[in-house]
Order: sequence, then structure tokens, then C-alpha cells
Amino acid sequence: MQYLPIFAALTGQPCLVVGGGSVAERKVAQLLAAGARVTVNAPGLSPGLAADAAAGRLAVALRPFDPALLPLQLLVIAATSDRAVNHAVAAAARSALCLCNVVDDPEVSTFISPSIVDRSPLLVAVSSGGQAPVLARLVRQQLETWLPTGLGALAAWAGSWRDRVKAKLPDVTARRRLWEQVLQGALEARPGLAQDVIGGRLAAADATLAAALEKESLGGSRATGPGEAWLVGAGPGAPELLTLRGLYLLQHADVVLYDRLVAPALLAYARRDAELINVGKTGGGPSTSQAAINALLIEKVQAGQRVCRLKGGDPYVFGRGSEEALALADAGLPFQVVPGITAASGCGAYAGIPLTHRDAAHAVTFVSAHLGADQEPDWQRLAALGQTLVVYMAGRRVAEVCAALLQHGRPLATPAAVVMAGTTDQQVCVAGTLDDLAGKLSALGLVSPAILYVGDVVELRARLHWFSPTAPGAAYNAERQGAPP
Ligand code: SAH
Repeated sequence: MQYLPIFAALTGQPCLVVGGGSVAERKVAQLLAAGARVTVNAPGLSPGLAADAAAGRLAVALRPFDPALLPLQLLVIAATSDRAVNHAVAAAARSALCLCNVVDDPEVSTFISPSIVDRSPLLVAVSSGGQAPVLARLVRQQLETWLPTGLGALAAWAGSWRDRVKAKLPDVTARRRLWEQVLQGALEARPGLAQDVIGGRLAAADATLAAALEKESLGGSRATGPGEAWLVGAGPGAPELLTLRGLYLLQHADVVLYDRLVAPALLAYARRDAELINVGKTGGGPSTSQAAINALLIEKVQAGQRVCRLKGGDPYVFGRGSEEALALADAGLPFQVVPGITAASGCGAYAGIPLTHRDAAHAVTFVSAHLGADQEPDWQRLAALGQTLVVYMAGRRVAEVCAALLQHGRPLATPAAVVMAGTTDQQVCVAGTLDDLAGKLSALGLVSPAILYVGDVVELRARLHWFSPTAPGAAYNAERQGAPP
């Protein structure tokens, strides 16, 4: 081991940064975040450093490197762009016996800064000893996705209980056993205390720990009990539009139930031994009934499994996610819901159609073109001006919807657009007016999944479209619909 990793308590400690540019500014920011008393030594300061100095956040020695400043410092960072000056700082620090880091020069440094994953109070530091900083950064990025953001809250919560647990359980082995029981669920996403804290259910977590302390053990009740269901929004199509929370849960699931609209690439993130079940519904094709999906969810969770129910877009927007959650709630089973980017906002962003805009729309309505049997949306109300209308499941009904809106008074020239396979490399956007959109679409012969935008915001697309799909159109439909390309 070439370096001893340590976490330095710098609150109130004198630290010197030599250099006044942007690199120095970054280092100063880190030192200030750690509570250090910082002096900057440089002949000139960047605007950011000057502002910090003016606000009294740091002391300044406005002159070339001054070795006389050194004996009073705990740490020194040399961050000038002049190698000779940096080396002079390192030499002076060595004689003054204070630790010195020369930015990007580990050879002359007596300490180096790691890449960090900050889940304060939990900190993970990664270093390649200066040999391969890019590798250290990549490892850090992996850890970022692997460690849930709520881990900091968990560490802080555990800290808040530390003294009480110690008083109640004087025996160190018993204490360790309890903490292991409590915390092990955090990294494995096992239902239980740790997940309660990460999920913000602090009152439940406090109550469980208090009861466990009385019994001096968690008793393993949750470990042998039911699993948990996670209703996770997978986003509109592009795999990278999944949230970090969704990815984390997907990576830990024992079972993944997924829909037709979920990006196939996402399934690669599931554990290799996870059971992957396609419960997709294709327009008119074979599908698993909603009742069967609910029953499957309940069966798997009751069997103690962690089930990731991966749903296209957001689970609570036209996805029947609420029905699945109600089925779980009625069965008394634990579940969590992770929102996703819904098709309206995802496809709008990728097609250059904002949902609202100060001059074009002050409200937005999401509506499904398919209600229950024989029901029609209230087109009269939906034809109101000054708002954006987003019609889900529009595929085969674009002509009917446009006609209904025209019939209820929207002008022929009202801008309208359909986005198909939005956010994927096969996205197609067809824009026109309520009058001509259906004709343009039928000429192309594309169907699903399709979402319809109506309103003045559609016009902004001419200036706001930025996304160039690599393979727009046919293949997507061929694959998902069984339609000829
Ligand atoms: N829960 C989903 C919606 C499910 S309903 C969400 O929040 O997005 C399915 C409808 O969503 C489709 O018929 C279509 O109207 C729309 N949709 C979903 N993904 C889409 C995509 N990538 N491109 C266009 N429309 C999409």
C-alpha cells in the first residue's frame, strides 16, 4: 500500500492554497466545504476567489508564493500553473513538515486527493495512487450508480440511534449483530428497516428499531416474511431515461415483470439469475390480463421475492400501475413506487415540443384516447384554447381525435403532431395541423406507440428539435407490431 487513506478533520484548521486560478478555486471550495480556515496565496485572484475573499470566507496573501506562510499550516495545496513554483511549494512544505499536494503531480506530493462518492456522512474515496486517475474516476462512477442516494440518510439515522443502542446493549457483539441485521438490507435492497429509512419512512424505521431494542434483536421477522414489489417507471423508450432509483431496484430484483414498451436494453441491468417475465400487452396481440398480472405480483411477493414491476413511462400515468398498487395494498403486501419520465414529457423533449410555453400554452392536459368500453373523452372541454393537449394511445385514433376537436370548435390550422417510438433511435415525428395530420400519417402507415400533441406549442418544434434518430420508423413497428416494414 503506497498511501495511507485517511479522512482529515479540517474544521477550523489552517490550510494554504497557493495559486489564484480556476484549479485553486476548486480546491478552495473543497477545503471550505470541509470547514477549513483557508488562506490563498497568489499575486491575483479569479473572480470566484475574489468574491469568497470579499465575503470573508477566506484570507488572502496577495503576492507571489511566500514560504513564510508555511509553518502555520496543516495542509498545503500547490495549484499554480507554474511547475517551478509548485515544486518550490512542495520543498518548503517538506521542510515545514506539513502535508502538501501538488495538483496533478503525485511524484512531489505528500498527499493526494481521491475521487469521492459523497453520501455524507458516508464517504467512499477511490484512488489509483496517481497511476490511472481515469480508472479511479470510472470506478467512482460505478459506485455512484450502485450506492443508493439514500445511504447518507441511513448513516445519519444510524448515528442518531448510536448512543441509545449502546446504552441498551452494552455487549459489543450483540450490538454489532443488531446493526448488521439493520443495515444489511441497504445494499441488497432487501425490504426492512434500511429500506424504510432510505425510502423516507422514518417513523416506521424508528418504531421497528425501538421494538427490536426491547427484544434485543430484530427477530428476523421481515427476513422470512413477504418480499416487496417495486413499481418502477422505465421511461418512454431510451434506456438511459430510467431514474437512478429505478436502476438500483432493477439491479436487485429477484423477479422482473416487464411491459412491451420497456426498452429491451434495460433488462440487461437485472441480475443474471433474476427471473424475467414478459407480461407485455401488444395492441390486439397476445397479452397477460391485468388480473393475471396482479395475481402474479402478489404470488411472487408472498413467496418472499423482490419483484421489480418495470412499466413504460410513469407507472401512474395511464399504465394501470395504480391498479397493481391497489391489488398489493389490498393483499397487505409492501410496495414502493418509482416515478418515471412519462411519454408526454419524454417524447415532447425529444421531438422539440415543450408542454407549456409562456406565449403558447399555460396548461397541459394528458388524456387517453381509449377509455373503458363505449366511453369517449369529453372532447368539447378538451378543445379549450390556450392549453396543450397530449393524447396517449392515439395510434389508430388520430383521425377521429382531430375530427372531434375540429367539431368542437378548434380551428383547422391548429398545430398538431404525432410522435412514434419517441426518444428511441427509431423516433418519428409527423407534424401538421388538425386538418391535415391524419392524411400525412396514413400516407406513412405507421402506428404504435404513438402520442398526439395538439396546440400552439407544436409550432416551436421548428426551432427546438435537436434529436436525430438513427433509424426512424419502420423497423420499430415491424418488431413491435409484427407489421411489414
Ligand atoms: N405509463 C406510460 C403510458 C402507458 S399507455 C407513460 O407514462 O408514458 C401507452 C401509451 O403511451 C402509448 O399508446 C403511447 O400513446 C404512449 N407512449 C409510450 N411510450 C411512447 C413512445 N416511446 N413514443 C410515443 N408514445 C409513447
